[in-house]
Amino acid sequence: MRISNLIEVAVYNTKSYDQEYLEKAEGAEHVQWRFHEFRLSAETALAAKGVQAVCIFVNDEANRGCLEILAAQGVKLIALRCAGFNNLDLVAARELGLSVVRVPAYSPYSVAEHTVGLLLTLNRKIHRAYNRVRELNFSLGGLVGSDIHGKTVGIIGTGKIGQLTAQIFRGFGAEVIAFDSFPANDWAETNGVRYVALDQLLESSHIVSLHVPLLPETRYLLNALTLAKTKQGVFILNTSRGKLVDTTALIAALKSGHIGGVGLDVYEEEEGVFFEDLSGQVLLDDELSQLLMFPNVLITSHQAFLTHEALSEIARVTTQNILNLGANAPFLEGTTL
Ligand code: NAD
Repeated sequence: MRISNLIEVAVYNTKSYDQEYLEKAEGAEHVQWRFHEFRLSAETALAAKGVQAVCIFVNDEANRGCLEILAAQGVKLIALRCAGFNNLDLVAARELGLSVVRVPAYSPYSVAEHTVGLLLTLNRKIHRAYNRVRELNFSLGGLVGSDIHGKTVGIIGTGKIGQLTAQIFRGFGAEVIAFDSFPANDWAETNGVRYVALDQLLESSHIVSLHVPLLPETRYLLNALTLAKTKQGVFILNTSRGKLVDTTALIAALKSGHIGGVGLDVYEEEEGVFFEDLSGQVLLDDELSQLLMFPNVLITSHQAFLTHEALSEIARVTTQNILNLGANAPFLEGTTL
């Protein structure tokens, strides 16, 4: 039933923490949330009937067909409760008169800290040690790691998250080199970071960490050719978007022994898998199954953003974006708002 003075919002892909933080966000008393656990797609768009706004996350599929159904039902606003927007057809949204807003920055610390956490775990084999000790196996064989101090870390993409990741690695005493199509030269100078060409970064880094958005030109940035340029024993970290890495090429480089370790918070085929409890099912994705079998691969399920601070900020900004109903928010053009 429509409550006239409230803005009705269909929230797709809702998890318990989304509901908890959105319901207690400032201004939430002016919003009628309609929480759906399923993802947005052309098949589920009809569930937005009668709402003014839909709220989506990274793995919802807001393609043209889906947006046409939303617009035909009177939806005015798409509120992404995330920073990335590669899952939304911006051109179609504009043509259909749909406003699009997002949360360009919530807690870059959450993602940067998780990135470094993946590396520390992998490098010192803490994931293996944890299991071993629980089995009363207190031996140390096979757990040798390396100091990060003195190593070279290559940061690809020095926006908000890349910069913080670089700064944390500088704190370890690592040399940090970086590549970005728009270098932040003042920041680099202040923090002792050196910009280099992409090939030089790949050739020189013991650790390569990806922090660029997913765009046509960054898709498969790490592929068979670019991985071949990396150092023997390199650690690869991806907490940005799965499709930045060609998984088939990554697996080949792992099998050949070229790669020392891989930390992934994202995976190119994560839609429908990450965020779900599939523990009672058969995993149908052969490449993901294979990745999970490597002792030197550590995968988390797109959880880098999952801190109290980030969830609070996502809920606060999303609610404000919705209350503005796009009126004051510029149309998202593919750049930071
Ligand atoms: P940002 O926009 O602040 O920085 C992105 C940087 O990439 C910019 O400096 C930009 O100049 C650079 N860049 C863009 N295209 C490039 C190219 N072709 N070559 C080189 N550099 C290029 O973004 P951010 O807030 O630092 O986020 C980075 C990415 O992290 C996001 O795009 C998103 O995909 C991902 N992310 C993941 C999570 C998670 O939970 N795992 C959470 C938030 C964001």
